[in-house]
Amino acid sequence: MYIDGQWVTERSHFLVTNPASGDVIGEVPDCTSEDIDAAITAASEALKSWKQTTAYERSGLLYRAWEIMLSRKQELAELMTREQGKPLKASLNEVQYGADFLLWFAEEAKRINGQTIPSSRDNQRFITQKVPVGVVGAITPWNYPISMITRKLAPALAVGCTLVLKPAEQTPLCAKAMAEVFEEAGFPAGVINVITSRDPAPVGEAFCSDPRIRKLAFTGSTAVGKKLNAQAAAHMKRVSMELGGHAPAIVFPDADPAHAAKGLSLVKFLNTGQACISPNRIFVHRVHAEAFLAELTARVCRLKAGSGFEAGNSIGPLINEAALQKVDSQVQDALAKGATLYTGGHRLTDGELRGGLFYAPTVLAGVTPEMRIYYEETFGPVAPVVIYGDEDDVLAMANDTEYGLAAYVYSNNLSTAVKAFEALEFGIIGINDINPTSAAAPFGGMKSSGLGREGAQEGIEEYLETKLGGFALG
Ligand code: NAP
Repeated sequence: MYIDGQWVTERSHFLVTNPASGDVIGEVPDCTSEDIDAAITAASEALKSWKQTTAYERSGLLYRAWEIMLSRKQELAELMTREQGKPLKASLNEVQYGADFLLWFAEEAKRINGQTIPSSRDNQRFITQKVPVGVVGAITPWNYPISMITRKLAPALAVGCTLVLKPAEQTPLCAKAMAEVFEEAGFPAGVINVITSRDPAPVGEAFCSDPRIRKLAFTGSTAVGKKLNAQAAAHMKRVSMELGGHAPAIVFPDADPAHAAKGLSLVKFLNTGQACISPNRIFVHRVHAEAFLAELTARVCRLKAGSGFEAGNSIGPLINEAALQKVDSQVQDALAKGATLYTGGHRLTDGELRGGLFYAPTVLAGVTPEMRIYYEETFGPVAPVVIYGDEDDVLAMANDTEYGLAAYVYSNNLSTAVKAFEALEFGIIGINDINPTSAAAPFGGMKSSGLGREGAQEGIEEYLETKLGGFALG
């Protein structure tokens, strides 16, 4: 743990394992309630001077952290592959995406402007200033263990907030490595604190109830996000919530089915389907059903599972046994209710996969609303295909979910694409685009997928208060 500029190790520890092999790869301290308090104290003491620094100083430090991160890109990516399991190429992409937030917010730090506002009274002047919200409590998940950290820390630091970060218990080593990057960049003691915990509940309670924490920035499941949001509301805390998703992907009659199958096979199996924006309900118009399923299945059959360090493997392990069991139970439920299995549908245990948590990349067709996989977030390598006939109905079916994070549309007709973009109730919509994300673009969901946006200009507002000055002239 990293508290007030010091490394804290003398605690009981919990183990970190490689999900591809089951091997123990490290151990980290399990924080005590005194550690949580010490980290909040350090952040709130450091805030006094950190918020007085100039935007140019903060920008310079973020820029330095960006340089260090890129110089360690390979090392960070290898650690991520060992700890989280994704293929090395995907880890390299994630380190780059994570670093992008440091650069973007290093630049944005200098563009936090107030306003002058005309008054109806000639002897009155209004001005606004943007000020940091204060100490931030940040909680991050394991599926993107580095970029989810920088997506929160970079804007918070850019505006002059200090923070305490609690990373997921499955991926604390990536968080430790990021604390080293910030330490080397020269951030003052107490500005960034990292605590690791086997039991997240006391940390969440402290972040929500301690009056010194002014904002909770959470990425994780909708269930935990709702709980934390309720706890934070009791103390009138600002929150950002980046929660679960259940993205629809619609292949319209005017789309190219082979192109759509190619794109969706890539984005669906990214990170082994363990992504909040993963397409989880693929609606294909019946005119394309056969061609789409043939192309999708052919592509999925070519995906190879295994260690992320072996070139050519694109399917990594699931994060833990419970995750694997959940995926399998969704698949078995769908099959029992009449879905057709095109490929996959079982755990992989042959050869080197034996010690790991691998599930065969799976294609299911004939998925219907009675099946759990239709309405529950799927966090695994399963592509559920729903065949539809009516274009208006499909938009209603896509919106018929409590989630509102990402959606995908395949169409070669401009009117169809615009109408779908306007009708879909989701925060991020890829139109013939499987990667609608960037540090410069707002990321976030509607409905139960969250509150607020990360990245882009919107991402910095989440860490700012607006202060109005009304000046009566004599
Ligand atoms: P999770 O179980 O909600 O955990 C997320 C984080 O919250 C972890 O650090 C976890 O700690 C912590 N946590 C759990 N219970 C807590 C509590 N009572 N108080 C305080 N903290 C608590 O989610 P996950 O399984 O790690 O991540 C997958 C979920 O994240 C999916 O639903 C996915 O869609 C979502 N996600 C959303 C986005 C987005 O940008 N919208 C991005 C990535 C992931 P422990 O690890 O110690 O349990």
